[in-house]
Amino acid sequence: MIETDVLIVGAGPAGSIAAKHAAMGGAKVIIIEKKSEIGAPKRCAEGISDNGMKFLGIDIDPRWALKEIEGIRLIAPDGTDVWLNDEIELPEAGYVVERKVFDKYMAMDAGRAGAEIKIKTLAKSVRKEGNSYVVLCESMGELFEIKAKILIGADGPESHIGRWAGLKSGTKAKDMESGAQFEMANVQMENNSVLEFYFGKVAPGGYAWIFPKGRDIANVGLAVIAKDTDKTAYEHLVDFVANCPATQNAIPVELNIGGDPVGGVVKEIYGDNIMIVGDAAGQVNPLTGGGIISGMIAGMFAGETAADAIKNGDYSAKVLSKYADRFDDHYGEKMDKYIKSRHYLASLSDDELDSIAHAFQDVEFEEVSTTELIKNLIKVSPKALLKLGKLI
Ligand SMILES: Cc1cc2nc3c(=O)[nH]c(=O)nc-3n(C[C@H](O)[C@H](O)[C@H](O)COP(=O)(O)OP(=O)(O)OC[C@H]3O[C@@H](n4cnc5c(N)ncnc54)[C@H](O)[C@@H]3O)c2cc1C
Repeated sequence: MIETDVLIVGAGPAGSIAAKHAAMGGAKVIIIEKKSEIGAPKRCAEGISDNGMKFLGIDIDPRWALKEIEGIRLIAPDGTDVWLNDEIELPEAGYVVERKVFDKYMAMDAGRAGAEIKIKTLAKSVRKEGNSYVVLCESMGELFEIKAKILIGADGPESHIGRWAGLKSGTKAKDMESGAQFEMANVQMENNSVLEFYFGKVAPGGYAWIFPKGRDIANVGLAVIAKDTDKTAYEHLVDFVANCPATQNAIPVELNIGGDPVGGVVKEIYGDNIMIVGDAAGQVNPLTGGGIISGMIAGMFAGETAADAIKNGDYSAKVLSKYADRFDDHYGEKMDKYIKSRHYLASLSDDELDSIAHAFQDVEFEEVSTTELIKNLIKVSPKALLKLGKLI
């Protein structure tokens, strides 16, 4: 049996940064990843925020940061668009990255900090043994066990670790978005330095996007809530690509399908000897579906908490709850606001979305106060404002 201080399951961005910070804090760390290539295939539109990377202390590296983003274009169902520039803080708008390079670089940083990485190693089950967890692993047909004082589940949206360990960590179907995306070449965007978001029936319960990756290459995708539509996310994507002006001559070179938990943080994200982070813990922006930065911030807090716990020889739920408190201090309020905004957006009809876009089309957002925005909304759509009022 292999023994370690901290075992992390999953080398996505959340797991790798947890491993890095636990190792930097002096803990003996092993991270296991079931795939043979960290970061591939991606299930992501690859947008990250600049501020997020600053908070994490990670320098932007041109080897994974493909495209710097200068703004956002919001497109209503009738094609009316609203442009926002980067002077206002926009979530997930900073860079479009190459996840298969980005994720590997984050894992390399964990390795450089002292963490051991076991690739092509699957966690198959978990059992509590005294003051530790034992995880049954499989690698290249071989079974073996790893015993850890602290287990961190960073195993993504289909996470098992939390549930196996008895945490209430499930996401309800109504809060799980289904995403489908093509990476495409020959995409003709109006401006290939902005992120495009398309709202309305193109993606019931979610939205469609075009995220540029440089030259004529872009991630073209959408996410839907299954209960809001009879079609699959893939069928919606095929319709979107056929009808969107930017993708009339676009060529798909990759298809990505994946789930995204947008219901907010799950009920229990820690217990004695265990924490869960990232998508596994529902730490995703419920409005945008972006979870790279929020998952990494959680990973950093969990890694630091684990290192302190190891130093002090106390891995109890009480000690590990510091991780949850720090995440809540940092994100709790924003999460609630984003959940409300998601419900608000989903409640609007295509007509309401069109009329809001008409009102805001020529607004210079960075110069406008919230009161003025609300005044505009009253003028064009009192019904939309009423719905907003009910949610706030
Ligand atoms: C279509 C789509 C578009 C998205 N676009 C964006 C975006 O533009 N910006 C953004 O910020 N977020 C986006 N997201 C969300 C983002 O991809 C996730 O929030 C992010 O990857 C979460 O990181 P993570 O480390 O928690 O999990 P993951 O990146 O999913 O990593 C989990 C890792 O655990 C491994 N694993 C799982 N089970 C086991 C096991 N039993 N044993 C060993 N290893 C295991 C997996 O192989 C995986 O490598 C998008 C999601 C989807 C579906």
